[in-house]
Amino acid sequence: MKVLGINGDYPQDWVRVFNHITNLFFEDSKVSKTEKDTDLNVYFEWHIDADHTVTTTAELHSDGKTYKSKFVQEYTNEANEKEQNIRLKRALSHVLLDTLEKLTGIHQKWGILTGIRPTKLYHKFRKSGLTDLEIHTKLKEEFRLSDEKITLMKKIVDRQLTTIPDLDTIGNEVSIYIGIPFCPTKCAYCTFPAYAIHRKNGRVESFLDGLHIEIREMGKWLKKRDMKITSIYWGGGTPTSIEADEMDALYQTMYESFPHAESIREVTVEAGRPDTITPAKLEVLKKWGIDRISVNPQSYTDETLKAIGRHHTVQETIDKFWLSRNMGMNNINMDLIIGLPNEGLEEFENSLAETEKMQPESLTVHTLSFKRASEMTHNKQKYKVADRETAEKMMHRAHEWTADNNYEPYYLYRQKNILGNLENVGYSKKGEESIYNIVIMEEVQTIIGLGCGASSKFVNAETGKITQFHNPKDPAAYIMTFEDAIDKKLEILDELYKEETELI
Ligand code: SF4
Repeated sequence: MKVLGINGDYPQDWVRVFNHITNLFFEDSKVSKTEKDTDLNVYFEWHIDADHTVTTTAELHSDGKTYKSKFVQEYTNEANEKEQNIRLKRALSHVLLDTLEKLTGIHQKWGILTGIRPTKLYHKFRKSGLTDLEIHTKLKEEFRLSDEKITLMKKIVDRQLTTIPDLDTIGNEVSIYIGIPFCPTKCAYCTFPAYAIHRKNGRVESFLDGLHIEIREMGKWLKKRDMKITSIYWGGGTPTSIEADEMDALYQTMYESFPHAESIREVTVEAGRPDTITPAKLEVLKKWGIDRISVNPQSYTDETLKAIGRHHTVQETIDKFWLSRNMGMNNINMDLIIGLPNEGLEEFENSLAETEKMQPESLTVHTLSFKRASEMTHNKQKYKVADRETAEKMMHRAHEWTADNNYEPYYLYRQKNILGNLENVGYSKKGEESIYNIVIMEEVQTIIGLGCGASSKFVNAETGKITQFHNPKDPAAYIMTFEDAIDKKLEILDELYKEETELI
């Protein structure tokens, strides 16, 4: 544990930001407001000139050495209190990051950006009227982003606007997420609502009964408002872990309940675990015209799959991919994870070589992140994972390989405690991008969550303000409370659409 002393009584939101920045350099670190028992000490100074220029300096002391940094940012306008706070936080982050880079020799390509949606920031600047060049300069100078990351963001933003030309006005439609909280077994890195499916006690049946009701009730509201649905995403858990006839009944309820079924742009069903895919379930998907699924290998090394508790083999992934393809699934996504236990460049090259034979329509390359609630994080010492440099090399290979195989990046997000401070990137062949992944990542429209662990995000199309609501993660709690969850969501929707009507 590295402790950074910041010597002073700073506002809590600044301390949180300093903590995020320090965490980028040390696996385990915390910020203390005193000099006592600290490994590093930083002293900040700042002032704001009459012409609004913000100047910050930092002096970092460690092991008898001093690292200094100064940052000057000019602004053309005076800021209100909130904006001033943001400007100062940003400028202090700048000098803190710089001194930590000097101390450790680690260059942070994402600069001071620690948020999970970098491209949302790009869109924000774009919508404010800045040109690409102005955005590039701003991200580089104010946020210390590398040219490489800015170029990636620009590519993604362009792709998103090609895929959804009405991205800036799509807030007048909604998307739907439906969570099925069961999986054959639980993976070691997982924090999703994924309960091992064993059909005792009627828990699965009771959950499904509740979900049918939730879909119908939400459908009534959507029909009453004559709302259009952009995309529907079945996630979880693994939505194909239930029986074929149960899937069939759910899709029937979905299409009967939701308005304008013919104009829904995309329906995706996560079939993530290959061990859940059967010809009967693929027939059901085909029957309802659903051809976008995910078959997730994560790795093509059997020992890795065993180590992370996936309970299926590499061969099973390959077989189920071809079964899905041959039975008419025309848009298959596959997920790979960089940095799984005991994996280095060699294993990742093998995963890319296997993927090359299948050419799925999209490939999402995740970087392992240590989520607080996962088994892997609780027993970190059990798992040996790649170092920062190797993880970076793997990500670099992913960029190269996808370009060579005609994939383009179209969405991106970052997570806390992500290996090597890297990112997760969704690539696809041209025209095969997932609309849902774009709208959820850029938070451009309301996403109504149904089922277990489903988060709803209600986005006010005028102000961008987001209200969240979370359905219970646990099926037992869902069964008890789903009716309250429906009422609460309808209440928020009524309020949101009343507000929006009033604003027009
Ligand atoms: S398949 Fe996905 S949802 Fe299920 S346990 Fe594994 S990571 Fe979690």
